[in-house]
Amino acid sequence: MNIHENVKLPLRISNLFKMAISKNKLAHAYLLNWRNQTAPEEIPLYLAKIILCNNLDIHENEVLPCNKCESCKKFNANAHPDLIIIRPDGNFIKINQIRDIITKFAFQPYYDKRVCIIFDCHRFNQEAANTILKTLEEPNEDNFFFLCTNSMDILLPTIISRCQPINMPVFSDILEEDLKMVSVSPEILPFLKHIGVTGKNELLTLKENEFFFIREEIIDLIIKKHEYSFLKILNLSDRISKSTFLTIIVLKMLSSINRDLLMICNGIKNVLNYELKTFLEVQGEIISQEKIFEHNKWINNAFYLIDRNVNKSLIIEKSLAFYANTL
Ligand SMILES: [Zn+2]
Repeated sequence: MNIHENVKLPLRISNLFKMAISKNKLAHAYLLNWRNQTAPEEIPLYLAKIILCNNLDIHENEVLPCNKCESCKKFNANAHPDLIIIRPDGNFIKINQIRDIITKFAFQPYYDKRVCIIFDCHRFNQEAANTILKTLEEPNEDNFFFLCTNSMDILLPTIISRCQPINMPVFSDILEEDLKMVSVSPEILPFLKHIGVTGKNELLTLKENEFFFIREEIIDLIIKKHEYSFLKILNLSDRISKSTFLTIIVLKMLSSINRDLLMICNGIKNVLNYELKTFLEVQGEIISQEKIFEHNKWINNAFYLIDRNVNKSLIIEKSLAFYANTL
């Protein structure tokens, strides 16, 4: 286990990189803009890990690093020879730091590709900015840049124009009005954040796929399992599995319920699925953590099974049956 293993990219970003990688159309320099919010460092690091991985798992909506290849192992050990990270030295990013990059770029990468992440890239001093411009102008096909900023307004336009800008979703993008639009309570926010939903468009996609109804039904099934016949579970599984998107989101929801149960078993009470809080608090006292771990392992594996075209309805049915039979 390491800090990069469980990063959940916002849906829009994981889709964007999935498309770029599968079409072999990665840009050489991305400008990640966090619009006045603190940039979470794990996101550019995780994107770098994806680019450097030699054996990517490409799924319906995302790409995942394999965590097994030499590159991933080096990355997880914080010892990747082809990852360069630049942060301001004091108040500014200085010319000698950029010269270091250029010196490294003069050699072939140790593996296949090289990634340079520049945090707070609005802090280039004049000399450093001029020098990095030349490097951005003459991209080498093995080198990739992630320039990160939360103050794009003070960044030189010449730098912006040489990068592909990406507005990173910030969580405040979801307002209470957006939630009213999809008729859900603001208490659902921690759950949405956990599954990587950050913007209005993503909320609308969930609504179009009837996720919020399905979620209520699953919660109802868990709480009132005695009223649910096997046929009802079958019917629910069939409706979910008609869409791969919905299947994946439901699996993420089930994984978040398992996470809640484990938290409660360990005395931590801030759950992601607030409607289940009281129920899970009672169950957390009696259920074995081992069984939850086992079920979560099954769910993690289910993501791979979906990608290998195993019957989605069977997967959901088995995943839901755990709550009907065990809780
Ligand atoms: Zn890998």
